[in-house]
Amino acid sequence: MAGEVHVIEHPLVQHKLSLMRRKETSVSEFRALVAETAMLLAYEVTRDLPTHAVRIETPLAPMEARVLDGKKIVLVAILRAGTGLLDGMLRILPSARVAHIGIYRDHATLAAVEYYARIPPEMRDRDAIVVDPMLATGNSATAAVDRLKAAQPRSIKFVCLVTCPEGLRHFHARHGDVPVYTAAVDSHLDARGYIVPGLGDAGDRLFGTK
Ligand code: URA
Repeated sequence: MAGEVHVIEHPLVQHKLSLMRRKETSVSEFRALVAETAMLLAYEVTRDLPTHAVRIETPLAPMEARVLDGKKIVLVAILRAGTGLLDGMLRILPSARVAHIGIYRDHATLAAVEYYARIPPEMRDRDAIVVDPMLATGNSATAAVDRLKAAQPRSIKFVCLVTCPEGLRHFHARHGDVPVYTAAVDSHLDARGYIVPGLGDAGDRLFGTK
């Protein structure tokens, strides 16, 4: 079953993505750009969150005002590169809870291996937004959402900066109910599991580990 893919064509998102892709972009610039882009993506991915009316009083008059339904949103960062998107998202969603799921890619098999998971309680009333800069093979994303679904959140969306047709196919073959929000769908995966043209290793570029 094919799933929804939302490519965020907003000019600011596309401009910042192009700067991130450039190999000359420094670690500090890259980190700032990821945070800024994450803010813009947070705005897009929360567009259809349900709200309900509450009675409040402004300094001038009582009124019916809209607030978000349910408990606080949960941002689910796939370690380690997913943490790079948290700062920007939390600027827009300051009360969000944060879950961490640690998945590493076995470099020989490219398979996803879970080594850590910490998820807030009462997930049944919460909307989850999974964040990872690159949806590449789809192995980590699929494993993280498998783990998250065990906690039964009210809804799940997946946000990344760049993905590719292979990753989307793999992810949606298992999680066709999880929409993907991305700034770009690139050409293809290379033999090492990197997205081409992509932006390189997002974790290394965020943390300066290479
Ligand atoms: N992870 C990355 O950081 N970059 C890719 O291109 C693929 C996976």
